[in-house]
Amino acid sequence: MGLLTIGAFAHATRLSAKALRRYDELGLLRPVRVDPYSGYRYYAPEQLERARLVAWLRRIGMPLARIGAVCDLYDASDRAGAAREVRAYWARVEADTAARRDLASFLVEHLSADLPQALSGRLPGNEDTTMTTTRELTIRYAAVTDRGLVRETNQDAAYAGERLLAVADGYGASGADAGAAAIEALRPLDTMAPGRAGDLLNALEDAVLRANEAVRGHEESGTTLTAMLWTGSRLALVHVGDTRAYLLRDGRLYRVTHDHTVVQAMVDEGRLTPEEAVSHPQRALLLRALDGAEASGRAPEVRLHEARAGDRYLLCSDGLSAVVPEAEVLEALAAAATPSDAAHLLVAAAHAHGAPDNTTCAVAHVAG
Ligand code: MN
Repeated sequence: MGLLTIGAFAHATRLSAKALRRYDELGLLRPVRVDPYSGYRYYAPEQLERARLVAWLRRIGMPLARIGAVCDLYDASDRAGAAREVRAYWARVEADTAARRDLASFLVEHLSADLPQALSGRLPGNEDTTMTTTRELTIRYAAVTDRGLVRETNQDAAYAGERLLAVADGYGASGADAGAAAIEALRPLDTMAPGRAGDLLNALEDAVLRANEAVRGHEESGTTLTAMLWTGSRLALVHVGDTRAYLLRDGRLYRVTHDHTVVQAMVDEGRLTPEEAVSHPQRALLLRALDGAEASGRAPEVRLHEARAGDRYLLCSDGLSAVVPEAEVLEALAAAATPSDAAHLLVAAAHAHGAPDNTTCAVAHVAG
């Protein structure tokens, strides 16, 4: 079989001639011969396989640069490597989609709930309003922060109040100041008038930007920040770094946040098992943190969750999660009668495991 013209090649691969020219320019799929006089491109039959792979990867929305990497692995007969790249890409897509799905369902609910409420107003005795106003959940809360058995200072900071729960884990020479500044920036949210739920997300995002500004004064230092803000029956979650949020519901423990660490990214991409991650020497290396850098990177991760009566929430710094197994966390959260008991039990558990780092726990019980 001789060389294929670009038209024949396009037909066989279901890629357009225009796309093929683009892939040539990008070095993704080079014709084996370009006629020096006419400029016509010719492809070898052996290139069909790679071209078809490109076409399929385009259909799942993979960016061209990433497609190049997959194709190179495939051409080098590293099929397992190519498969791993596709899996890693798809894990990222699904994580992004999950976060957007939360926001979308929130917006749908928010927009459809506003309409009848605006029409019926908030007149006393108007029965319609009870249909559309969100149910207020009340929470009990407590926070405990502890230096641990090894560190000389405590660079963690925490806040627990009627509407706000927050934990920051500072690092660097001014880590304690950075963590405290981040918590201070959030604190006003606890007493913010419970306005429209949509404003809540903006308020949280603004507070995180303020926290980042506050951290800017502390050279070479930064902090993680994970916080929950309640409004009605919902809670908004803001998260940067490796401080974690857990939910205990119906006897099961769910991890609500995703660590912004190098190790977690490697697990997501299938390069490391979760078991290997636990003891990885660089598990504390953060991919994202509040470090005062210009908002060049991405906006803080903000998500919404529907809280339920009986839910128990825990925010904890890595001083807890790195040493206390999740089974023990579940047990302590479930056994404690009050948030304060839970926080103290968990800090005691960290001590039982040597408490190599500062440990901070903020706990909220949603009234049942
Ligand atoms: Mn820490």
